[in-house]
Amino acid sequence: MSGKKRLIDENGLRVDGRRWNELRPLKIEVGILSNVDGSARIIQGKTHILVGVYGPRESFAKHVSLPDRSVVRCRYRMAPFSVEERKSPAPSRREIELSKVIREALEPAILVEEFPRTIIDIFIEVLEADGGTRCASITAASVALADAGIPMKDLVAACAVGKADGKLIVDLSDMEDKYGEADVPVAIMPNKNIITLLQMDGTLTSDEFNALLQLAMKGCKRIHEVQRKALKDGFGEIKNLVLEE
Ligand code: ADP
Repeated sequence: MSGKKRLIDENGLRVDGRRWNELRPLKIEVGILSNVDGSARIIQGKTHILVGVYGPRESFAKHVSLPDRSVVRCRYRMAPFSVEERKSPAPSRREIELSKVIREALEPAILVEEFPRTIIDIFIEVLEADGGTRCASITAASVALADAGIPMKDLVAACAVGKADGKLIVDLSDMEDKYGEADVPVAIMPNKNIITLLQMDGTLTSDEFNALLQLAMKGCKRIHEVQRKALKDGFGEIKNLVLEE
């Protein structure tokens, strides 16, 4: 984060022409893969991700399963062609960490105790990455879990917020993530108002942090509307991208 690149112009517009409180165009499709129990595709700006879910399946490897609950496993991967410079196909430390972070954001919503001795597998393939892939992965994976018919307390919707050129912004792109002053990915269970992911990279005052948390909640709730529409109709898209102030 150098903070030197200009990310907001004199008219208050961001590099991709958005306002500070405007989400990227968002599309979610459900049930797009035939060889899994549940699936979803999310396209959020230029970020494009596929998720496939298997389970709950009986675990053949007994050392992996638990007697009182289902075990959730998650694998997040970025395709070599998902970023400008070819990414090595070998799993990176970041991918291993994000697999864990995403699993921990989803697990509180899944009724794991209903399926002892089983495994739920979540496979996330990032086809194109332009910032916010952990949040988009969580949003899509929760829809794929619901598509698989896995009982859940709530969906999980996620949205990154942050700061660039001294201004608070929602749904950061790759440039804003890299050159901005702060990046705060947030995931919530929207009906229960429970936060399941909260990370922060950068520096913020406590007032800025509180304002960003409110902005993230609004962003997640708007994304939740698209998730619900996608589950109902097979496809969901955001019309009004600007969050109210
Ligand atoms: P998130 O995607 O959740 O914001 P990061 O903050 O770690 O996660 O990454 C921000 C962005 O950096 C990614 O969305 C992607 O656009 C870019 N990025 C991540 N890994 C690489 C990589 N190996 N090469 C180029 N760009 C990358």
